Amino acid sequence: MTSKPIYRRVVLKASGEALMGGQGFGIDVSVVDRIAADIAEARSLGVEVGVVIGGGNIFRGVAVASKGGDRVTGDHMGMLATVINSLALRTSLMKIGVEAVVLSAIAMPELCESFSQRQATAYMNEGKVVIFAGGTGNPFFTTDSAAALRAAEIGADALFKGTQVDGVYSADPYKDKNAIRYDRISHEHVIREGLSIMDTAAIALARENNIPIIVFSIHEKGGFGAILRGEGHYTVVADEPAAAE
Ligand code: UDP
Repeated sequence: MTSKPIYRRVVLKASGEALMGGQGFGIDVSVVDRIAADIAEARSLGVEVGVVIGGGNIFRGVAVASKGGDRVTGDHMGMLATVINSLALRTSLMKIGVEAVVLSAIAMPELCESFSQRQATAYMNEGKVVIFAGGTGNPFFTTDSAAALRAAEIGADALFKGTQVDGVYSADPYKDKNAIRYDRISHEHVIREGLSIMDTAAIALARENNIPIIVFSIHEKGGFGAILRGEGHYTVVADEPAAAE
């Protein structure tokens, strides 16, 4: 076990669906509390943490568009959903004494501050967890892209993508028993093979900015902290040898 964390500053991306727990919709507070505890552990290691939460547990713009509705309005609704989730995570973090602030890409001053790169960096330097709400603030994007964008803007050493499984597999491990888990894979390989880790725009942005993506299971209690200590199960998506290796 290393005492020093392998990354100094990271962005954690969790999908909205991860917050649902066993429910079919909305927020299971016990799950948000557990993710908050994992973030607290990362903070106790001295790691600066930014977080992007999706909104798929509440709303997705494509759902409106697929029924003939207006995609842009649908995406606005999806971005609002990410703000709801971000406020829930801030509450869970504050409850356990972790200082956290929500910065939204869409101004809503009664609820939270607006995002600026300067303010985000200042808060992270102070050791506050910064939750980036509202995605990129633009329709036709996803919170995966928002996570890659914010990671680049704040100079994160890595982007942690919490998924349903503990890394990147050659096939769906739930459907194919012979699926193998990669320890390491390039951004290029992920894009070429269409491996569904994050959307292509997010992976391309991470690649251009030389940001490794750490794919791990968001459901494993303590998994985030374990990786930061140089342990745990994960796949590194990186073109150059990553600091984790
Ligand atoms: N969204 C958007 N622009 C962004 C980020 C999100 O329009 O920059 C909308 C989009 O409708 C998306 C929804 O917000 O479907 C929820 O985000 P996402 O699907 O990325 O959430 P996740 O799948 O991670 O829960």
